[in-house]
Amino acid sequence: MPEGHTVHRLAAAFVRGFAGQRVRMSSPQGRFSEAAQVDAMVLLGAEAVGKHLFLQLAPSADVDPDSPVVRHVHVHLGLYGSWTFAGDPGFADAHAIGAPRLRVGEREEGLDGEGELDWRRLVPRPTVRLRVAGPHGLADLTGPTACEVLDGAGRQKILERLGPDPLRPDPEGTGRRRFVAAARRSRTTIGALLMNQQVIAGIGNIYRAEALFRARLDPFVPGKDLSPGMLEGIWEDLVDLLDYGARTGWIVTTQVEHREIEARILERSRGTRQNGDEDPGVVPREQSFYVYHRQTLPCRLCGTVIRSRDLAARTVFWCPRCQSVRSRRAAWSREHPAAAWALVPGGCSEVRP
Ligand SMILES: [Zn+2]
Repeated sequence: MPEGHTVHRLAAAFVRGFAGQRVRMSSPQGRFSEAAQVDAMVLLGAEAVGKHLFLQLAPSADVDPDSPVVRHVHVHLGLYGSWTFAGDPGFADAHAIGAPRLRVGEREEGLDGEGELDWRRLVPRPTVRLRVAGPHGLADLTGPTACEVLDGAGRQKILERLGPDPLRPDPEGTGRRRFVAAARRSRTTIGALLMNQQVIAGIGNIYRAEALFRARLDPFVPGKDLSPGMLEGIWEDLVDLLDYGARTGWIVTTQVEHREIEARILERSRGTRQNGDEDPGVVPREQSFYVYHRQTLPCRLCGTVIRSRDLAARTVFWCPRCQSVRSRRAAWSREHPAAAWALVPGGCSEVRP
């Protein structure tokens, strides 16, 4: 499932590709008949909150974004959804965002005699739930969990049931405080809390596993047993990790000095990709994570075999030795200096510009 950084990249791609322009909205698959309600409107903007994307549409470009005539196309990709973009040179630089998948046949139909892609002639596949087409390009949505037209109140309802998103600006620290308070109220394990979108929005399975490793924290510790400082550290670390993901399209959580250690991956995860753009300069997958999909391999730091187990409906991965911090007392004891090391701000952001 795409994690929050991917949805923020999508919002940015929509703003770059369509903002201020009149767009055609259609449902080649026919399952999103509400597309007609927002067809030929102007796309005012796009916003991401956690894993939810909202496209703002209005009858004209000068409409106030808070006006009651504004409509929001709300999209949640779920496990299988994805967006594919095509357009003029320099159009949204994101080609395909969402669940990794094969794209078959669509490009050939848009080729002209020279073998160049003409996006205007791209015939949508019959599975396209929504096509957004502007003067300079198009975006096709397939396989989403949610795709609906909402008014302002409908959008607000969704926002109210979401926890704070580490990628939203938080100058007053309100989001961080909400996360800490919600986690400390709960007997649920921190591993489950990080996946609960009402506690913190946008975190998926990769960020959960990796943030817990970086904090040296046992995934099965109840939220109420963690100190505010420990939870603040997790929040700040996620801000850095997600920010790197949003800038590059890739999830990389390893510190540079650890990447060459045990740089291998399991044969069965060889074919899977992270979300993001094709980028030959990216940190290779076998160097990107500490624990995610590394069950049965040795820990990069201590050599202990990485374990995996079901937690909150998804598999959690952890190192039983490094992640032995179990309570607020243990978190800051002298036996665990690594906990402080792991939460150094910007720990992963020196990777590349
Ligand atoms: Zn370890």
